[in-house]
Amino acid sequence: MKRDYYEVLGVPRSAQENDIKKAFRKLARQIHPDVNTQDPDAEAKFKEAAEAYEVLSNPETRATYDRYGHDGLKRGGFQDFSQFSFEDIIRSFFGDSLFGNGMFGFGQGGPVKGRDVSVPVEIELGEAATGVRREVEYDAVDYCEACEGSGVAPGTSRETCPACGGSGQQRKVQNTPFGQFVQQRPCRDCAGAGSIVKAPCPECHGRGAVMKHHKLAVDIPAGIADGQSIRLLEKGSVGEMGGRPGDLYIHVAVRPHEQLVRDGNDLIYHLPLTAVDAAVGAHLKVPSLSGDEELEIKPGTQPGEVKVLKGKGMPSLRGRGKGSLKVIMDVIIPHDLSAQQKKLLREFAKTTTDKNYARDEGLFEKIRAAFR
Ligand SMILES: [Zn+2]
Ligand SMILES: [Zn+2]
Repeated sequence: MKRDYYEVLGVPRSAQENDIKKAFRKLARQIHPDVNTQDPDAEAKFKEAAEAYEVLSNPETRATYDRYGHDGLKRGGFQDFSQFSFEDIIRSFFGDSLFGNGMFGFGQGGPVKGRDVSVPVEIELGEAATGVRREVEYDAVDYCEACEGSGVAPGTSRETCPACGGSGQQRKVQNTPFGQFVQQRPCRDCAGAGSIVKAPCPECHGRGAVMKHHKLAVDIPAGIADGQSIRLLEKGSVGEMGGRPGDLYIHVAVRPHEQLVRDGNDLIYHLPLTAVDAAVGAHLKVPSLSGDEELEIKPGTQPGEVKVLKGKGMPSLRGRGKGSLKVIMDVIIPHDLSAQQKKLLREFAKTTTDKNYARDEGLFEKIRAAFR
């Protein structure tokens, strides 16, 4: 339920433009989220007041609101402020100038999370099936050992920041169309620390942090697929101002296998099968990730037939069950036959009772009969 705009600003319906402006300024100072940080609803309240002011300070939208209420504004295309971000609203009232200098404390002076680091790793399909341990190497920001992260040259200490007198904060008074805002922001000279480094650590030049080469053994789980990543929490660069470290991402590439193609948790193998073996049956070996598998080819096996070897596929990444090895029969028809071989095959065709072979004979019979 939307509250009445006059009620929000606390003014009578007969209020003059100037009274409306005054009421909003007063409210803005009270509930401004930067001033009133203790109130969790400050932002919502500020949005509500800003919206009420936006409508009532414009004679046209005010007239629409007076006659038709909230619905009238909606029909007229007025977008209520809940659809805008708080930052957008502040910008529309105060301009860009108040941003980026810490007035609202966005990303200023507080803890900053360390950078994430990515490492590519390439493994074989067989390793993806069993899981594998790999040592990865990467560069990430770490605390400087020489100064134990303080940034101060050994034997010296930090000194009180002269710019802020050690408070870590700077106050600035800003004049806006709605009155004065007292702005409190982290001190630029000491980044809010209250103290500065007079004699910087020669190892890290006062930063307290250095780039370090890391080696880490990583367990790549069985079932991982090409293109998937492993996230190792807080193994990236260290954070600043007490922020937590970034994460380490292991990007896994799985090299394609020479004979087996992965399809989800299944593996596909195309078996080259001679027409003779397909016709009379055979015992053949097919490759799998755990060595060769014996496969019985039944007499009369057709091209494209699929033999499913259950449990011979890839393990599920969730650790339950395994896929299948699917063997697809690629029947090879003999070519470059000698005259003798062709004769033998025609002899065979005459003797077979298979209706697929008999069909042609029947057709010739019909044509012959037509000329009789
Ligand atoms: Zn250092
Ligand atoms: Zn300072």
